[in-house]
Amino acid sequence: MKRLKLAPAAATVLVLAAVVAAERSRTAGPGQTQAADATTRQPANEGMGMDRYFPNTEKLAPDEMRVIACGTGMPTPRRSQASTCFLVELGNGEKFLFDIGSGAATNIGSLEIPFDALDKIFVSHLHTDHVGDLSALWTGGWVGGRHGPLQVWGPSGQTPELGTRHFVETLRRAFEWDYRGRMGVIPTSGGELVVHEFDYRQENAIVYEKNGVTIRSWPAIHALDGPVSYALEWNGLKFVFGGDTVPNTWFTRYARNADLAIHECFPTPPQLMRKQRLSAQSALNVATSVHTVPAAFGLVMAEINPRMAVAYHFFNDFDIRFPMYEGIRRTYKGPLTMATDLLVWNVSKREVRVRQVVINPDAWPAPPLSPPGQPDARLRTPFSPFVDGGRIDVSRQLAPMIQEFKKQNGLK
Ligand SMILES: [Zn+2]
Ligand SMILES: [Zn+2]
Repeated sequence: MKRLKLAPAAATVLVLAAVVAAERSRTAGPGQTQAADATTRQPANEGMGMDRYFPNTEKLAPDEMRVIACGTGMPTPRRSQASTCFLVELGNGEKFLFDIGSGAATNIGSLEIPFDALDKIFVSHLHTDHVGDLSALWTGGWVGGRHGPLQVWGPSGQTPELGTRHFVETLRRAFEWDYRGRMGVIPTSGGELVVHEFDYRQENAIVYEKNGVTIRSWPAIHALDGPVSYALEWNGLKFVFGGDTVPNTWFTRYARNADLAIHECFPTPPQLMRKQRLSAQSALNVATSVHTVPAAFGLVMAEINPRMAVAYHFFNDFDIRFPMYEGIRRTYKGPLTMATDLLVWNVSKREVRVRQVVINPDAWPAPPLSPPGQPDARLRTPFSPFVDGGRIDVSRQLAPMIQEFKKQNGLK
């Protein structure tokens, strides 16, 4: 309902061509669009200049990169925009997640990508709007068919308890009940979390290198020591992901020549007062001493001159987007996307193409890439006699179904 109301207002301002790509065009609702296009979507989407991308209908070229915004919003939960998360898919088949902010796992699931292909996350910093859905991807992906560990790369902090290792290990322990309850019921390996912590102070140093993919990090300035930004380089293409930061010299030095440069762009102090209900002092603190306001975002992008600049970390409404866009345009004239969730960028040497992803909101997990292992019954924690004593005996009613199922599937 809300989207239908917004549509006419949005349409009148679509003349701003640079933000056309960022316009949410789901006026019919994702489910209806998916159904209507289901029969013709593959041919219609190939080479016709359409502005939609339907997951699992296009093969990446060997020299092509696809980036999907799985979260672009603010720390406050919102139905239409999750918190920070970007998925990078490469023509060699590899996939990398950058941040996993609260709400993002739902968008990731809607893309119907096998969960065992989504096993590498690079975290910029440990605010919930950048790591809040780690638990959802960890256990949801495990149950959804990831048979190996989920691996998390992230920065250290000034002290050990402010680092990524501490965060991941204590999160795993906090979910002890969840973890142990699945032991012996489903295969164990998908429940492992592996941490790769690196020094947040390193400057453009390698944090990952494999199969022609190199990922480097450099420091950012945000809230406390620890936050970082990343560059992923592969096959002559460079993807840059800036986590939260005030404008900093490391970014302008190491993000140069990016094909796609993502950097936070925060609402201005008056916008934060009006929409986020912050006090004047808080609005000023948040916008200018912790984040990057639009004109400052423009300065950063003018300095590094990417093939496509991506602004995110704002609620992309018509009364926010256009004033922010004008702020950026005061200092930066190059290619620009005002990001919202479920935009996709196809990046190659030939072009950077921006489209809207049409998702399946009712997705089930995609078939896993690897065969599942067997649950190890010995790892199961038995119920206490007290709880076992509360069972209703349905064994007679279930017996025929269980027998038949075991016979069909070769179970003992
Ligand atoms: Zn933050
Ligand atoms: Zn943030």
